Amino acid sequence: MDWADELAQRVRDKGPQVVNDSKTPSGTVHVGSLRGPVILDAITRALRANGVETTLLYGVDDLDPMDAQALLTPDAVDHEMGRPLAHVPDQISDCHPSYARHHAQTFIDTFAGLGILPDRYYWMSDLYALGEVDPFIRMALDRAALVRDIYKRVANVQHPDSWHPISVICPNCGKVGTTIVTKWDGERVYFECRPTLVEWARGCGESGWISPFGGSAKLPWNLEWAAQWSLFGVTIEPCGKDLATAGGSRDRSDAIAREVFEREPPLNVPYEFLNIGGKKMSTSKGRGAAAHTIADVVPPEQLRFLFLRHRPNHAIDFDPEGTDQIPRLFDDFDKFAAATAGREVRGELPPGYEATFRYSLLDPAADVAAEAAAYRPAFSHLALLIQVPGVDVIERAEAEKGSPLTDHERALLDQRAGAARAWLEAYAPDAARLTIHREGVPAAVVELDAAQRRFLARLAERASREEPASGDAWQTLIFDVATDEGVPGRKAFEAIYRAFLDRPNGPRAGWLLASLDQAFVIGRASEAAGPTGSAA
Ligand SMILES: [Zn+2]
Ligand SMILES: [Zn+2]
Repeated sequence: MDWADELAQRVRDKGPQVVNDSKTPSGTVHVGSLRGPVILDAITRALRANGVETTLLYGVDDLDPMDAQALLTPDAVDHEMGRPLAHVPDQISDCHPSYARHHAQTFIDTFAGLGILPDRYYWMSDLYALGEVDPFIRMALDRAALVRDIYKRVANVQHPDSWHPISVICPNCGKVGTTIVTKWDGERVYFECRPTLVEWARGCGESGWISPFGGSAKLPWNLEWAAQWSLFGVTIEPCGKDLATAGGSRDRSDAIAREVFEREPPLNVPYEFLNIGGKKMSTSKGRGAAAHTIADVVPPEQLRFLFLRHRPNHAIDFDPEGTDQIPRLFDDFDKFAAATAGREVRGELPPGYEATFRYSLLDPAADVAAEAAAYRPAFSHLALLIQVPGVDVIERAEAEKGSPLTDHERALLDQRAGAARAWLEAYAPDAARLTIHREGVPAAVVELDAAQRRFLARLAERASREEPASGDAWQTLIFDVATDEGVPGRKAFEAIYRAFLDRPNGPRAGWLLASLDQAFVIGRASEAAGPTGSAA
C-alpha cells in the first residue's frame, strides 16, 4: 500500500492534482468494478495527506450506446439496442429517468457507504447537451485525418479515408451505435444510419446533413476519454488492465490527447481485475455478485481492505460463495489492525501494512492508532456465537477482551454480528451453519470408537480442571488431550462434532466449544464418552 504514498511523493511538487475515473452504465455493476473507485480514493487520500491539493471526479459515460440486451424486456430490444444509455427507459419502474441513471445511481450509491466522496460527479449526456464537448468535437473533425493516422499507427486499425471521428444520434430512430459520418463542412456533418453497421443493433437507413454540436452527436470512446482529460485538467487516472494493453484504449487516448487535443495525458495506474471463482467479472454478463449485494454483507472497511491489501497490478481472486473467504478477509483485516497496533501477529505481513490499514478505514480523518487498538471479535467465532441460543454476545466479547467494550467497540461488534448473519444467510458453506443438540446425546455418537470416547472423557476431565475460556484455549486443550491419548486430530474433532452437532464435521471446534456453556460442554463430553470412556 506504500504505492499510493510513493505516487503522492512523486507528484507533490507538481501543483494541484485532478484524479478522474468514469464508467459506462451498461448494466448491473459487479463488485470487481469497485476496485477502480477504491484505488482512486486511496490515491486522493494519499495526495491530501502529503499536502497536495486534490480534486476527485467521477463520470458516467451515459451517451454510450446500449449494446447488451440481457437487461432489456424482449419487446424493447429492437427499439432500444444502439440508442444512448441515457435515452433508454429504466427497465425497472423505480422512478429513475433512464436505464443509465438506474444502473449508474445504484453503483454510485455504494460509494458514500465506502467513504468514497468524489468532489464532483458528471454525466456525459449533460456535458454534451450543454455544449461543453463542442470545442473537442470541432477539433476532432478538423483533424480527422490525424485521428485516422493515430488509429493506424497506434492500434493498427485502418479506417476508410471518409471516416470521421463522431457518431451522430440518428434524428429519425434515436440510435447512436448505428451511424457513421463521411463528410464535414466545418459546421455540419453528413451521416448515414446503416441497417447493418453493427450486428447488435439495426439502423433505420436515414441519412443527411446535421450539426454535430449541443448533444446531437458523441465522440468515439477514445476521443471522449481524451476530451474529458482536457475538459477537467485530469492529472491522474488509473485504468483497468484490459484498457492498458499495448495499442489498446489507453494508448490510443494518450496519443489523441497529445496530438489532437495537444495536452499531456494523465499519469496512469493500471490495475488488475478482481476475479470471482477464477473468472473476470464482467459488467454485462450478470456473472458473480453485484456491488451493492456484496456491500450489503461485507462492511465498508473490510470491502476497502479487500481491494487495498494487494497492489493494483496484482489480480484478486475472490470467491465468497460457499467458502470461508469472507471470514478470512475479516481475519486478515484484524491481523493488519493488530500489527498496526504493535501487537505480535502470526505469519508474514506485506510491506506497507500500516498504510493499507489506514486507507481501509472509512473515515479519512480517523485516529489510526485508536482504530488499530480497538477490540474486534473474530468473525468465525461470532458467526458461531450468534447461532447458539441464549448466548449474550456482548458479555462473551467483554470476557474475551477482559474489560468492558467502548461505545465504538460495541458499534463494531454490532456491525460484525450483522455481517455474520448476512454471511450465514447468503454465502456460508453448510458446515458453518449449525444446530446444537441440547436435548440428550445425539444418535451420531454410536459411530465413535473406543479411542474417541476416551478422548472425550479426558477432555471433560481436563476442561473442568483448567476451565478454558477462549476459543484459542479450547483449541489448545483439544490438541493437548488428543496428543496425550494418541488420537489423531481429525478423529478428535469428529468426536466433538458427533457429540454436539450430530454430524461428522463442523466449524472450528475450539470456537464451537467456547461458544457453549462450559458446564454443558463438560457434561455432554463425558455423557457421550459413555462408561467405556470414563472407565479407561
Ligand atoms: Zn430504476
Ligand atoms: Zn436511424
